[in-house]
Amino acid sequence: MKILVINAGSSSLKYQLIDMENESVLAKGLCERIGIEGSKLNHTPQGGEKVVIAKDMKDHSDAIRMVLDALTDKNHGVIASMDEISAVGHRVVHGGEIFNKSVVINDEVKAAVEKCIPLAPLHNPANLIGIAACEKAMPGVPQVGVFDTAFHQTMPQAAYMYALPYDLYDKYKIRKYGFHGTSHKYVAQEAAKMLGKKQEDIKIITCHLGNGSSITAVDGGKSVDTSMGFTPLAGVCMGTRSGDIDPAIVKFIADQEGKSLEDVDKILNKESGVFGISGVSSDFRDLEAAQNNGCEKSKLALDMFAYSVKKYVGTYMATLGNVDAIIFTAGIGENTAIMRKAILDNMEGFGVEVDDAKNEKAIRGAQMDISVDGSKVRILVIPTNEELMIAKETLELVK
Ligand code: AMP
Repeated sequence: MKILVINAGSSSLKYQLIDMENESVLAKGLCERIGIEGSKLNHTPQGGEKVVIAKDMKDHSDAIRMVLDALTDKNHGVIASMDEISAVGHRVVHGGEIFNKSVVINDEVKAAVEKCIPLAPLHNPANLIGIAACEKAMPGVPQVGVFDTAFHQTMPQAAYMYALPYDLYDKYKIRKYGFHGTSHKYVAQEAAKMLGKKQEDIKIITCHLGNGSSITAVDGGKSVDTSMGFTPLAGVCMGTRSGDIDPAIVKFIADQEGKSLEDVDKILNKESGVFGISGVSSDFRDLEAAQNNGCEKSKLALDMFAYSVKKYVGTYMATLGNVDAIIFTAGIGENTAIMRKAILDNMEGFGVEVDDAKNEKAIRGAQMDISVDGSKVRILVIPTNEELMIAKETLELVK
């Protein structure tokens, strides 16, 4: 069975065609600048070279049609006809309190995703456009919605409520939702396999450290707390996002700098984090290079990032009581030994002991246990694979 995974943004659309027989990626690609001049499709077939097709895409329907053409093309295609696609799995960012698992998309589901637009005004509309475009291009092919927020719907109320007037929760559903759920769920499942245990029997902390970062406490395969909140701005310090700050700072900046709330929101989302501190970059490769060249602010940014992640790891050790493993995933978690070491530094007292040699040797793209042999808490590096997780959930619902 072949499943097409779609991640639609406002002017982009990422895709992967996955053969579920062996979970291999037959082709993947990205449509860029949809509806903007200069749109193009980057398409990479399995084992082949990347092909760039520059062609106007006036909307997402055009983009999907181009993707289907590329997948069935006689030169760089990977399937004979689009009839080989059994189902489509869509990444949907926000499922609010309505969706606690993936679902087959119908009119009711689309209406509910629309209802969640105020919670994710940039993402959910794009996801709905992607769904509509696929329905039009592939009538009759089942479509499944996989929500970033669904995995965290198991959090207990004491963890997901904010100490605001209860009315605001009743009226607007202001609460913690959490994000990156597909990634946290995937690495949690893989961690259980690596440990040779059932998910129900283990307690783990998953650290998804990428451009956006979040930490989750997973008890028996269920999310019981996570660092992101009502929006993906909360939690640890990130590439350009501030993470947790004193909420009174918002008004203070607005007053002092004569800025609107929109301006301050932009500062917190786009001009803060390690980028805001260093003034150099949001990319950890650039920051490590700058630090090595003596840039004090880059060093400070990296120190702040490590410390903010460490604080959440410590918090979730208290939440879970007894932790079997700490997992690192995503761009930073999978690639930077120095950051993993800095985050878990000085935690031997909690049974967390990094093996420096194993940590340094962790190979990109491979699963690795980087803890010392006797470490009470295992420390695992697990490459995330959100597309495969979406394909698996889709298969589960349509087979
Ligand atoms: P992601 O959002 O998971 O794609 O992660 C992207 C981020 O991972 C980039 O912005 C970098 O900060 C970081 N990253 C990726 N590769 C490396 C690397 N080799 N060393 C350090 N950081 C990396």
